[in-house]
Amino acid sequence: MANISEKMNADLNKQIGEELESAYIYLGMAAWFEERTLDNLANWFNKQASEEFAHAMKFKSHILERGGSVHYPELREQKQDWAGIMEILEATLEHEQHITSKINEIYELALEIKEHSSIPLLLWFIKEQVEEEDNAMSLIDKFKGYKNEFNFDHHVKRKE
Ligand code: MG
Repeated sequence: MANISEKMNADLNKQIGEELESAYIYLGMAAWFEERTLDNLANWFNKQASEEFAHAMKFKSHILERGGSVHYPELREQKQDWAGIMEILEATLEHEQHITSKINEIYELALEIKEHSSIPLLLWFIKEQVEEEDNAMSLIDKFKGYKNEFNFDHHVKRKE
């Protein structure tokens, strides 16, 4: 007997897809940077993709811990051609805002159906999204300060 409602199970499976699609988007961006030898940016986005994969696995583990069932949804092809760095950075922020809204919807569902066991996980993601949006905004602000894309790339550092 599952300790997770069908609705929560289904929404978390959908969110696994959102996180994997995020990884897919960031891999495409990383490749765009790699093609232009903007290696620090490529590294930043490749690491971001790994983090998104870890997010998907975090949802997967929670579903399994609650005796639910995991279903990986079909992934859609993502945009891979960009007009320039600013377009990528703005798309990153916009995408993270989209993910935030998805997490918030699941959190609201948990409150509505009193699925308390999912709340700590969702609060972790709510906090994570504050960081993700802040990271994206910081890149945008930093880029505005550099006229040359290689100078910008040189100053993009990522801890993990
Ligand atoms: Mg994520």
